[in-house]
Amino acid sequence: MNFFQCFQISCQGATTITTFAVFLRDKVEPALRRAVYERTAKAIAEDMQGKFLDFRGNRANLEVSILKYLAEQENFEYFRQYLMFPKEFFQSYIKRQVKSYCLDGSRRLEKFLDSSLSLLYRNILSAASLSSQIVKDRTDREDKVSLWLDEFCRELTEVISLPRSDLKGIEHQEVSDIEFLSSAMEDNLDDLRDRLQKEFAAANMNSFSTQPHTILAEHFSGCWEQCPFCGAVCTNTMQGHDGDHQLVFHRPQGVKGWRWIETDHLVIDICSSDVASDCTFRIGDNKSIPYKRYRDAGPPYSTWNILPDPSMQAYWKWFVSHFQTHLEALYNRKFQGKGEIPEAWRRITKEEALSELDKH
Ligand SMILES: [Zn+2]
Ligand SMILES: [Zn+2]
Repeated sequence: MNFFQCFQISCQGATTITTFAVFLRDKVEPALRRAVYERTAKAIAEDMQGKFLDFRGNRANLEVSILKYLAEQENFEYFRQYLMFPKEFFQSYIKRQVKSYCLDGSRRLEKFLDSSLSLLYRNILSAASLSSQIVKDRTDREDKVSLWLDEFCRELTEVISLPRSDLKGIEHQEVSDIEFLSSAMEDNLDDLRDRLQKEFAAANMNSFSTQPHTILAEHFSGCWEQCPFCGAVCTNTMQGHDGDHQLVFHRPQGVKGWRWIETDHLVIDICSSDVASDCTFRIGDNKSIPYKRYRDAGPPYSTWNILPDPSMQAYWKWFVSHFQTHLEALYNRKFQGKGEIPEAWRRITKEEALSELDKH
């Protein structure tokens, strides 16, 4: 073999290896990007659950945080959304917290993405090097590339989703210089990492296919049924649970717009004291049902277990007093007559209402 032939062969070998490395890099890229986002979403959710008081406990604890937030904001529109669509409000509350944690001045999102990328990148590099080690010693096998790919994909099973079947296009390449292949792969993976790093610097929450707040919100799922009288949410932690819906703190029924029969006077009593009273409520056009037998009204009433309990949280007394005109305008009804707001309610300060929440 003369010099020219020798040069030609080595050039062909180099081209083959380059083609191989570029093809493989292009397959790794989308899988790596996806894995980085998936890993990062979980890491952010976990980090926030450890660091934020709001997210450390159960849904009842989170609800206390939300009630505090609402009182601090003093924006009736937020209250309205929370009262009408509690589940959506919880989710948007979590989403807002996650967003500000990730995208505030310290750009935590980029740091989270970088750390996931570094970890996965190291795993991929070591898979490439391990595959080369194994294949190099297999003098018995001609199909070195195919073997290399087998090892590479197997090593990465838990790291990224790279099906071996997607790599059939290059498995018949003739490559004998495995060392060279290994270093070509390293160069290409380096380029890929640098490119992804730049891309992640511009990432935002929409870059995730499953956003971190969705993962975090799963910890606070459960039953979202609302009491038909006051709108408070069932506290059962199982969605679609057996047995009746139940909760501890009912609210003044006027919060949900209930009025006294034949008047436009909003009700300030809570359902848990009504069920022990001789009062009746009306459903449909003129069907009156005694509160004591509220289950006779059928679903949704019959699916609730409302235990007699006259205690009402100061928070709701403060809310009704503070937002009286807003509630009256919302329902086009008045806190009058039997729905007159007691003076004692008006004297409750926001601080008192909030400090009582902490006691439970
Ligand atoms: Zn209720
Ligand atoms: Zn329930």
